[in-house]
Amino acid sequence: MSSNIQDVIRSPDNIVIVGGGLAGLFCALKLAPHPVVLVSAAPLGEGAASAWAQGGIAAAVAEGDTPQAHAADTIAAGAGIVDAEVALTLAREAPARIDDLLRYGVRFDRDLEGRLAVGREAAHSARRIVHVRGDMAGQAIIAALTQVVRHTPSVNVIEGFVAEALSTADATVTGVQLRKADDITARPVTMAASAVVLATGGIGHLYAVTTNPPQASGLGLAIAARAGAAIADPEFVQFHPTAIMVGRDPAPLATEALRGEGATLINARGERFMQAHHPLAELAPRDIVARGVFAEISANRGAFLDARVALGGRLAEKFPTVHASCLAGGIDPAKAPIPIAPAAHYHMGGILVDAHGRSSIDGLWAAGEVAATGAHGANRLASNSLLEAVVYATKVAEAIAGQRRRLPVVAPVEAPRPRNGAFPAVAAKTLRAMMSSHVGVIRNGAQLADAIRAFAAVERDSGNIALKNMATTALLAAASAWNRRESRGAHFRSDHPSEQPVLAHRTITTLAAARDVAEMLCERSREPIALANACLEET
Ligand SMILES: Cc1cc2nc3c(=O)[nH]c(=O)nc-3n(C[C@H](O)[C@H](O)[C@H](O)COP(=O)(O)OP(=O)(O)OC[C@H]3O[C@@H](n4cnc5c(N)ncnc54)[C@H](O)[C@@H]3O)c2cc1C
Repeated sequence: MSSNIQDVIRSPDNIVIVGGGLAGLFCALKLAPHPVVLVSAAPLGEGAASAWAQGGIAAAVAEGDTPQAHAADTIAAGAGIVDAEVALTLAREAPARIDDLLRYGVRFDRDLEGRLAVGREAAHSARRIVHVRGDMAGQAIIAALTQVVRHTPSVNVIEGFVAEALSTADATVTGVQLRKADDITARPVTMAASAVVLATGGIGHLYAVTTNPPQASGLGLAIAARAGAAIADPEFVQFHPTAIMVGRDPAPLATEALRGEGATLINARGERFMQAHHPLAELAPRDIVARGVFAEISANRGAFLDARVALGGRLAEKFPTVHASCLAGGIDPAKAPIPIAPAAHYHMGGILVDAHGRSSIDGLWAAGEVAATGAHGANRLASNSLLEAVVYATKVAEAIAGQRRRLPVVAPVEAPRPRNGAFPAVAAKTLRAMMSSHVGVIRNGAQLADAIRAFAAVERDSGNIALKNMATTALLAAASAWNRRESRGAHFRSDHPSEQPVLAHRTITTLAAARDVAEMLCERSREPIALANACLEET
């Protein structure tokens, strides 16, 4: 049900869910018939990474497969820091959540006997990816859930509003500050709330090269951190090795299945380069391939996916999405290699939550990619993220429904009027470029230190709330990457290239701790940082 913001803004007992992707929609439906307000920056179905998922959802539903095997694969992928209990819970609850999705109208593909068809993906020891019409899982799931939500009277949908800050009193959430997405100079409004569920997705769009939608720029993580919430594992960002570089932002994906079909990775001289990095060459784990591609590009040799021999004319039929993306960029992949680069794809870190999705701040919950449950460790196993979104959205809903906090009725907070000019587009672009170059696929202490000093200055001094929030999340990721003096999973430090057993634990941090790192680095070096100046001049 679509609602006018004025109808709901003043009720202090609101349960506000921020985010219209899989985690937000699922949580709203699981809370029904409890009334909830669902706020989304973009219209439902748009601006959500969920709708772009091509693979599907991992669930041990096939004969012979078990939740224990699924959990073991998840733990192995996470490079030593997955919370084993969380991984097992995800795997155990997967079949029930798939049943929920079927009930909400998602038509997963079935085999000839009518059982759920399951595909195989990298690092899964069994066929366990349920999918829809081949590579249309995300779109089909979001379309089905959007329709159910629109017909659920308990869900008040507020579209086109961006959450930019939380209101708190006595370390408890009392509301969320919202601003019109298409009019950022408009005065913000504060919606009173007894519970706020952040389901705002990832941080990929903080990077210059990403597969994520523009709404995935880490705002949810930032507003939680600014309110004092504990943040976990922000340094762990998964990069997809083969984003298609045809001048599009976000960049379209060339699925791993192409390499599975024999497509090779070559540089501009036509040399295959992955054989030098791993015995499995192009089929090595995702983070290793991403680093191999990054190294070629950094050495100015360029990187390309060559499907001419392996697929040739068959590519158009077998991979229509990839084919269309190439043609739109003026490349015929049957005749020419596809230019590629690694792209920020998934954030393992996020708002630290417990087994019920509860953050460290009373009344604040998180589910989906913005949350850090402990399931992914240093590297996410393919197709576990949609699963985590539905499992934790359910847990949050059950916990909120079970223990509704009765708040004294408070008058709606008069919104402050933070100075907020037009969005500083050049500054945001500069910040994204620095995330890619300094906090990207291959990191080192000196570059991270420069990034931290720059992001901290923008976080502290920017007059634009959107840029400030972007810099907040960027600062958290960079400071934790600087602190982790080892390489583990998706986090690779060229100055600390091996894994350190003593660091086999998760990072738990806060914005205050990240600012302390920045302050210490600023004392060490007073050299001006061009990025910070460029960003601050524009705001
Ligand atoms: C190209 C691509 C392919 C993928 N394929 C798979 C796959 O096959 N399997 C798999 O498991 N995972 C896959 N993933 C990852 C997966 O899609 C995401 O991790 C998952 O969808 C996240 O769901 P979410 O609900 O947390 O976030 P999203 O689906 O991103 O939804 C976030 C929502 O929050 C809104 N929002 C954000 N910030 C604000 C704000 N400040 N105020 C208001 N609203 C806000 C957005 O508009 C959006 O509605 C893929 C990701 C990409 C990019």
